[in-house]
Amino acid sequence: MPVPFIDLKRFEDSIPEIFSQKVQSLVANTQFIGGKEVEIFEETLKKDNQVAYAIGCANGTDAIQLALRAVGVGSGDKVLLPDLTFWATFEAIINVGAEPITVDISLEDLQMDFFLFQEAVEKFQPKAAILVHLYGWTSQYLESFRKYAKEKNVFLIEDGAQSYRVKVNGESIYKNALVATVSFYPAKVFGAAGDAGAVLTQNPEIAQKVRSLGNHGREFHYSHQYVGWNSRLGNLQAAYLNVNFPYLGERIQSRRLIADSYRRDLAEKFEVHTTPGLVSSQGVLWKESATSIRIEENGYLNVILMDPKKRNSFLEHLKKHQIGFGTVYPDPISVQKGAQGYLRYKVGGDNAKRVCSSVVNLPLFPYMTSAEYNEIIEVVNRF
Ligand SMILES: *Cc1c(COP(=O)(O)O)cnc(C)c1O
Repeated sequence: MPVPFIDLKRFEDSIPEIFSQKVQSLVANTQFIGGKEVEIFEETLKKDNQVAYAIGCANGTDAIQLALRAVGVGSGDKVLLPDLTFWATFEAIINVGAEPITVDISLEDLQMDFFLFQEAVEKFQPKAAILVHLYGWTSQYLESFRKYAKEKNVFLIEDGAQSYRVKVNGESIYKNALVATVSFYPAKVFGAAGDAGAVLTQNPEIAQKVRSLGNHGREFHYSHQYVGWNSRLGNLQAAYLNVNFPYLGERIQSRRLIADSYRRDLAEKFEVHTTPGLVSSQGVLWKESATSIRIEENGYLNVILMDPKKRNSFLEHLKKHQIGFGTVYPDPISVQKGAQGYLRYKVGGDNAKRVCSSVVNLPLFPYMTSAEYNEIIEVVNRF
């Protein structure tokens, strides 16, 4: 039985119908830009994450650019980012005219290494840093990152594109961020019917600036206080997100159960990675952390680290048996062709590279059937 890496069609039966009705009404009333659906969605984001401000925007990459600009990052400013992330994190820094510096990751949680981050802050005195919550969890040192950045006057932007509904000590991961960004790209855990994003913050000045920058730097309709751009969230996207929101809890629960099952069922054969401090969907601590953090994942990705020499034949085996897979990510930022000419400094060693050459992601999507899951385990065990 073939099992895809991800199946976006696995949403609840009622969604296409409810959305179609909304679309008919929005089109009939030509409510395309701004309007009620966007307002409802932003209210939902605020409540769901206990933040004071939520600003919808065009996509997750723009959300990072808006956040960088809003805290004042511009031409020549140094900005730290982890060497292991999606390329958009890097692009956002370049696109606002700033200078990127990559920091290597920790092999414990696969996120930016806190101790190297401290080293990088001391050495380069960056204006800002982007902490990426990768794979659907976060660093066990999250609170240390926030505290240290604040002490050193480094604006810490949290790229939360992959971390919607990740919880830290029982609360939304976005709640205690200076500013956090979200992507609603369809394949993320909370997906729109196209591109969409948001910036979340507790800070009124940052919120005001983000809203203005993403709407042509407007103060009033024809009064422009900044040179921004157009990064508004469309009403149709907001409507789709509103229709999906009530099911999000169930989807995340389904993902978390599968993520747990992989860890349990493949433990003998592979290193199924998690972060220290992770609690299972049953509330059990998987792995003690060095801090007292408790992290609830959103089940975005399954992460297996294996011997790089065996990886190709393992991927061939999966392909042959029609099991979908990912390798998120095949290369670190610092070796990408597009990074050359922009990247002058790199802090730390080659942990990111090592992870990139050994990572495999098995299928993980909400409502995977047990027949599909069992098929994956059986195929994997035959390797
Ligand atoms: C998806 C993603 C983005 C970009 O989001 P888009 O909505 O596709 O622009 C940025 N950072 C990370 C870590 C991502 O996974």
